[in-house]
Formats: sequence, C-alpha cells, structure tokens
Amino acid sequence: MLLNRGRNSVAIPGPSIIPDRVLAAMQRPSPNIYDGELIDIAESIFPDLKSVARTDGNVAIYIANGHGSWEAGISNVLSPGDRVIALNTGFFGSRWAFMARTMGIDVEVLDFGMDECFDPGVLRNRLGADTSPYVKAVFAVQTDTASSVRNDIPELRAVLDDVGHESLLMVDCIASLGCEPHEMDAWGVDVMNAACQKGLMTPAGMSFVYFNDRAKEARARVSGVSGYWDWVPRTEPEHFYQLFGGTAPTHHIFALREALDILVHEEGVANAWARHERLAGAVWAAIDRWADGSAIRPGVSDPSHRSHAVTTIRTTNDLSGGHDGDTDADRIRQWCESRSGVTLGIGLGFPDHLSGSAFRIGHMGHLNPPMILGTLGCVDSALTALGIPHGDGALEAASRVISEADATFGLE
Ligand SMILES: *Cc1c(COP(=O)(O)O)cnc(C)c1O
Repeated sequence: MLLNRGRNSVAIPGPSIIPDRVLAAMQRPSPNIYDGELIDIAESIFPDLKSVARTDGNVAIYIANGHGSWEAGISNVLSPGDRVIALNTGFFGSRWAFMARTMGIDVEVLDFGMDECFDPGVLRNRLGADTSPYVKAVFAVQTDTASSVRNDIPELRAVLDDVGHESLLMVDCIASLGCEPHEMDAWGVDVMNAACQKGLMTPAGMSFVYFNDRAKEARARVSGVSGYWDWVPRTEPEHFYQLFGGTAPTHHIFALREALDILVHEEGVANAWARHERLAGAVWAAIDRWADGSAIRPGVSDPSHRSHAVTTIRTTNDLSGGHDGDTDADRIRQWCESRSGVTLGIGLGFPDHLSGSAFRIGHMGHLNPPMILGTLGCVDSALTALGIPHGDGALEAASRVISEADATFGLE
C-alpha cells in the first residue's frame, strides 16, 4: 500500500524547503529592469544579507550556485601560482580545492576525515613551518554538508593571529548561513561564500561572496580578474545592471526579499539559530535511540562538532542480504520517498566501498516540529518495515527535546 499522497517533502541538505510565501512572491510578471520597484527591492536586499552574516563589510551577488561563488571568491583574491591550504572535513573542502586547482592555484589539502572537525594544532604546525612564498589563503568550510561536521571558525582565526600569518581566511558558509551562528566581522573572516538555496530558503540560482577590507586590499593586488567575476562593479556600481553583471535575476530578487523578511524581520537571525539547534537536537536524540543495540550511528560522534543544519547517519553497507544490491541506507531512502513522500539525502563523500553506508537528513531553513517529527517518524517506519534492527523510542526522545524548548520560551 502506498501512503504517499499529501504534500511531498524534501529533507535533503539543499535545496531546502521553499516557504509558500517565497514561491508566491515569484508568481508575477517580469518587471521593468531599468526603473521602479525592482531596483528598490534589489537594493534593500544588501543590508539584510549583511545582517544575516553579522558584517558591515561588502557582499557581491552572483547568478550562480555555490560552486560559482567559489570561483568568484578565488578570482578576486588569488592568482595562478598562489599557494593555498584547504581544510577538508568531509567533501566540500576537497571540491573547493579542486575548483581552485582548475584555476591554477597551488592547493595543499589538510584532510581530517569524515568524523572530526579540523585540528587547529595541525594548521598551526603547518603555517609555523611555512616559508616564502607564503600561503595566501586558508579555505575552511564551516559546515561540511557531506559529513555534517561543523568547524570552529574563531579557533582558526586565533591560529592565524598567533603565528602572525598574513593569509586570508576564506570560509564556506553555503550550508550554514542562516542556520548556525556566524559572526563574520567578530570572527575575522575575510572572504565568505554563501548561496540562497539552503538556510536562505530561495530556489537555487543566487550566490554571495562577502568580503572585508583586507580582502579588498588583496583584490587590488590581483590583475586580470574576469569582468564577470570581478566584485568591484557589483559592489560599487555606477549603473544598476552592474550589481548583477547584466540582467538582474528578477524573480530570485522577489523570492529572496520575501525569504529575508521571514528570516531577518519576522523570526530574527538569532532565533533561527536557536531553532536550528533545537531541531537538530531532536534528530540526534532519535538517532541515539535507533543506535541502541544496532549498527545505526550518528556520522559525527562528538555532538559539539555536529552541524545544526544537516545530519549524516551511518548504517551498515552490508550488501550480503540480497536486496538487489541495495544497502540499508539505500533501502531506507527508497522506502521513505516511494512509500511516504519524503526525500532524504544520499551518502556523499565516503570512499567507494562505504558510499552506501550513509544517508542524510537536511534540517535547514523553513522547518518546524511537525516537519522534522514527520521525517523522523517516516525513517522509524522504514526501519521497522524493512526489518532493519534498531532501538525503540526514537520519536519519544525527539519529542522530548522539542518539549524542552518550552523551558526557554519567552525568555529571549
Ligand atoms: C551545497 C554546498 C556547496 C555547493 O553548492 P552548489 O550550490 O551545489 O554549487 C558547497 N559547499 C557547501 C558546504 C555546500 O553545502
């Protein structure tokens, strides 16, 4: 029997669920792109984007996904032959490194595996030993969406300051912006990458490069920045079209305006961070119960290193059961999608022989307890229906975490 009528839901770590109001904001004819409302709305987005990242610096918008924002950031502050260290705690640090290599950057990857956040001591030793030509930038992903590891960015800044190193600190917040605390100015982040389709609840297609004055100085030393990626006209435009390097992404602007109203002006960014933390706690509580006496376990052992936006769940990848070559994680995902209408994230970034040993629950953006409890309930049903051994009481545990949110209700 199929029970999957009603509204389908995505619980993948981006694109995230788009609020109905954001969808509705796009339901309108093409506007005048030379004059009038669109210009005002577009300009109103910048201060709100800055407030989400807690910065008084600059932000350039690109009609691109997160990969485009990586290329944009790299283009503005690095030149072929420059040396960079990329910290990898999953998958995206190495993808970012790959992109930089295709642009002629000399990248060294420091890899910390799938279950650990970066070790500041390793970076300290590496930079301490650095001799000319020095490392121009350190790439760090705040939340790695594949492993669901969350890194401590202020610790990194402290290392750079301690060793007196001039490198730029470049941080990927594509999965974390709007979900996890990020204080760009207070933390001394020089360049920050983000995109609209995760915590910012907008259809994929807009991305952001934030930068401070140090990064601006680095930009001034780079020659040959492509006219399209150059952030100067996008942040100091003489004409409106320069904000977007051509035609404005009209309907994305309407959508993002609505999403920022919800996040910044209605909920408040700090409240959104607290909500994500609480909902993540509900997911972890469920996993702890499933793990009891079974092979299921959280992808990241130490709760303080876990993302509040996405959770990776490890299962066995035992193919011996003869289920058409599918692993437990594959079967759980397939059951949830086809039987109950919720799409879970695939395992990503593991070595080939482990690639079927994980699935992910995205819990970023537009999400409330019925949505997260519904997703956890469907996974719980899948485990039972598929005969996958697991501990009892996952939903009770998750609901208890949610009930405890009341303890702080009204205190903020
Ligand atoms: C999603 C994601 C990316 C890639 O973004 P795209 O929009 O798919 O290009 C990069 N880094 C992180 C941390 C992400 O979560």
